[in-house]
Amino acid sequence: MTRADKRALRQEGNQNHHHHMKTKNALKTATVIVIILMFLGYAGYAFNTWRKGLPDKAFTDGPVHWHARLNVKICGQFRELPESKGLTAHGKSAVGTPLLHHHHDGTAHIEGRVLRPEDISLGAFFDAIGGKFSETEIFDKKNGDLCGEKPGSVKLNVNGSLNMEWKNYVLKDGDQIGIEFE
Ligand SMILES: [Zn+2]
Repeated sequence: MTRADKRALRQEGNQNHHHHMKTKNALKTATVIVIILMFLGYAGYAFNTWRKGLPDKAFTDGPVHWHARLNVKICGQFRELPESKGLTAHGKSAVGTPLLHHHHDGTAHIEGRVLRPEDISLGAFFDAIGGKFSETEIFDKKNGDLCGEKPGSVKLNVNGSLNMEWKNYVLKDGDQIGIEFE
């Protein structure tokens, strides 16, 4: 092998090496792009999932301050609303949550921006104040429990008519709610 041959060989080797480096860089760039695309895809998916959990439009445009009267009678006796789960709402002692509460006087307060109608259902109100209510029970009474000697059952009355929505009934400002077990 002459010196010139050796030089030629070395040059070829360098070129090969150079070509190899180029491929390596292209691979690196491709990997970075794939990672960015995967991240964007995941971010889009996560954003859509998060958005699906929210309603397109809130139930009320802004904060409301609604009141509904609640009258619970069990076996002919008037019953106070539970006094559990105390808190302070707009500076007054209250029972429930800032959105759904009462101030120890038998009036349900709905205060704040309502996102979903189900957030202010009768069931949500009873959950908030810590009392049982459904088509089969009110407080400590279950359908079939006795009032004197007669088995009783729950009845829901909204603004003077029997209502069969039970827990799902969505409270409105000025409602007169009567729940009777007899
Ligand atoms: Zn209040």
